[in-house]
Amino acid sequence: MNVTLKNVTKKFPSRTKNTPDVYAVNDFTLEFPDGKLIALLGPSGCGKSTTLNLISGLLKVTDGKVLFGDEDVTDLAAEKRGVGLVFQNYALYPHLTVRQNILFPLQNLKGKEKMSKSQMNEKAENIARLVQVDNLMDRKPSELSGGQQQRVAIARALVKMPKVLLLDEPLSNLDARLRLQTREEIRRIQKETGITTLFVTHDQDEAMSISDMIVVMKDGVLQQTGLPQEVYDNPENLFVAQFLGTPPISTFDGEVRNGTLYIGDDVVFEGLSCQEKKVTVGIRPEGYVLKENGAFRCSLKRVEVMGRDITVISENENCNSGEIRSIIGSDNKVDVTKEWVCFDLKPEKVYVFDRESGKRLREAEVRSNG
Ligand code: ADP
Ligand code: MG
Repeated sequence: MNVTLKNVTKKFPSRTKNTPDVYAVNDFTLEFPDGKLIALLGPSGCGKSTTLNLISGLLKVTDGKVLFGDEDVTDLAAEKRGVGLVFQNYALYPHLTVRQNILFPLQNLKGKEKMSKSQMNEKAENIARLVQVDNLMDRKPSELSGGQQQRVAIARALVKMPKVLLLDEPLSNLDARLRLQTREEIRRIQKETGITTLFVTHDQDEAMSISDMIVVMKDGVLQQTGLPQEVYDNPENLFVAQFLGTPPISTFDGEVRNGTLYIGDDVVFEGLSCQEKKVTVGIRPEGYVLKENGAFRCSLKRVEVMGRDITVISENENCNSGEIRSIIGSDNKVDVTKEWVCFDLKPEKVYVFDRESGKRLREAEVRSNG
């Protein structure tokens, strides 16, 4: 089932005179495609949970429309929308066994949806097998690891076969290894069920690695959406460029003069069709090519050898994002006795942004510099 938000706004009115209203979601328009795993990504407080809760019906929109397929569900109560919800804290019933937790949503079905005991048991067994908790059915939540509890929570959300599965930071309470494992599990379960799944996270790695589509938000406003790699390669603005990528993109004060892009006195690229402008230049860590007398000069701090590649850590007075981490192949030799390191830059890894608005300046990109 595809989900569409049309000009959706959620305002939380201020409770005091001195504080402004909060627009947790602001004029949000997007279609979440059917059968995909979509990550809703952004820093804490950007409106991810609010967006999810507007889709689930737990919150009512201030303005705009929510559609499931062609059906307008804006005024439909949460329990009638057919969504499955999973939160960060697993929220299982502690006094019930795994089996009883999974059965719970089925036991509450009414009218023509009501099932017989054996039907319910069969459904619970099937879903438990799918999320691989079928060997834990008689345990209580306190007898499970965090990862197992979260899988039971997913089973409980799935047992009614919802039209849409909504996951709000489902991995945040898990340790690093379990987080990796469980996110692969979520990917597998989503693929096997084909349920349209929205997955909220502030972790760009998580979003990039498992989703078919990412949706980046900031301050309640949709910033960009697309395939993870597409958004990484083609950020629309400085915020998106900085939010995606580990290590993050480095940013520099730069300037375009006479069709030439400068960082300080270094000529980064020539032949731009952009007007004279103060800009912010973003360079991805993998955008540096080690080269004696290269165009871009930095003061060398140290080198970290990581097996497959080398990270060169350097500084540049025009950099406004701290130390620069450049990732180059391990076949490179860096002379660590030197004070300076010089690079050429890969044009497709260098982005130019308007210094005021942060908007990407397409006319200032160099894409065919030899
Ligand atoms: P995220 O999930 O991305 O961390 P939220 O959707 O929880 O962000 O919150 C978005 C913004 O809305 C925040 O500024 C938050 O403080 C505010 N907010 C969320 N819920 C309420 C509420 N019930 N009342 C007032 N403000 C809220
Ligand atoms: Mg949240």
